[in-house]
Amino acid sequence: LRQKIMSARGLPIETTDGVPVQLHLNWGLNTERGWLNELDVNGVGLYRTEIPFMMRDRLPSESEQEEIYRQVLQQFCGAPVVMRTLDVGGDKPLPYLRLHEENPFLGWRGIRLTLDHPEIFLVQIRAMLRASLDCNNLQILLPMVTSAEEVDESIRLIHQAYYEVSDELGDDRLQQPQIGVMIEVPGVIYQLQNIASKVDFFSIGTNDLTQYLLAVDRNNSRVANLYDAFHPGVLHALKAILDRCTALGKPVSVCGELAGEPGGAMLLVAMGYRDLSMNSYNVDRIRWIIRHLAAADLEEVLARALRARTVEEVHQIVVLALENAG
Ligand code: PEP
Ligand code: MG
Repeated sequence: LRQKIMSARGLPIETTDGVPVQLHLNWGLNTERGWLNELDVNGVGLYRTEIPFMMRDRLPSESEQEEIYRQVLQQFCGAPVVMRTLDVGGDKPLPYLRLHEENPFLGWRGIRLTLDHPEIFLVQIRAMLRASLDCNNLQILLPMVTSAEEVDESIRLIHQAYYEVSDELGDDRLQQPQIGVMIEVPGVIYQLQNIASKVDFFSIGTNDLTQYLLAVDRNNSRVANLYDAFHPGVLHALKAILDRCTALGKPVSVCGELAGEPGGAMLLVAMGYRDLSMNSYNVDRIRWIIRHLAAADLEEVLARALRARTVEEVHQIVVLALENAG
C-alpha cells in the first residue's frame, strides 16, 4: 500500500471529479529537510520558527535567524513559504524567558508575547525579510491573534522592519511580504470582517482552535478523550469560518493536525477548503485519499456529519465514507 500511495507523487492533487486541492507542508525541524522536495507539495503552509529559539540558551541573533530562514526559503524557491512569527508560551517554553503561569494556554503566548517585546518581533521580521531577497516567496503568519488591534500593531511593526531593511539593503528586489492571521482563538471567528481588509490570508490552527472551543487542554491526558476536532461544535465552526472568509473574499487554509488526518481532510474538502497544510509524513496519504474522493459524494457526508449529535456519530460517518471511497 505504501508503494501505491507514494506512486501518486507528481500526479495532480484533485478529486475524482476534478476539484483541485493544494497541499502544503508544515515544517519545523531542520533535520528532516533532505527529502522534503520529493514530496511534491505546493509550498510550505506553516514554518514553525520557534524550534531554533528553543534549541538555544539565548535568543538567536538576527544573522543566525537570517541564515536559517534563507535555507528554508531557498529550498522552496518558486513556491510560497508561510513563516509564522515566534509562537512560544503555552506548551512551548523558552528557558531564557521565564514563563511561569497558572494557565499558560490562556496566558502570555504567541503574538501577545512578541508584541510586548517588539525588539524580538522586529529582529525576527528583519531576518525573514533579509532572507527573502533571492526567492521573494516569503509570507508572514501571525499566531494566537485575538483582536484587530494586535493585527494593526503587528502590521505596523512589519512595515517598520520592511523600511529599515529596504534602506539598509538598497536593493529594489525586496518585496513587501503577504501577511496572514491564524484563526485559533474562537473570538476571532466573529472578528473576521474587522481583520480581513488588513491582511492577505487566514490560516486555521485546528489544534488550538479545538482546545479553545471545547475548553480542553490539548496536552492534559486526564481529559484527552474530550479533545477531538471531530466534535460537531468544531465542525460547525470550521464550516462557518470557510463561509465567512469566502464572503469576505479572503483565502483561508487549514494548518492544524486535522488537515493531515484522512477523515479530517475529507470533511475539510467537503466544506469547501482547497488548501491544506500538514506534516511531511501525512502528505502522501492525503494526496492519495483526495484522489479517491468524489467531491459530489462529499456533500451528503458533510451534511450527515454536521447533523450528528455526538463525536462518536461523526467518527462513524467518517469511517464509513472513507471505506466507501476505498
Ligand atoms: C494549531 O494550533 O493548530 C497550529 C497549527 O499551531 P501549533 O500546533 O504550533 O500551536
Ligand atoms: Mg496553535
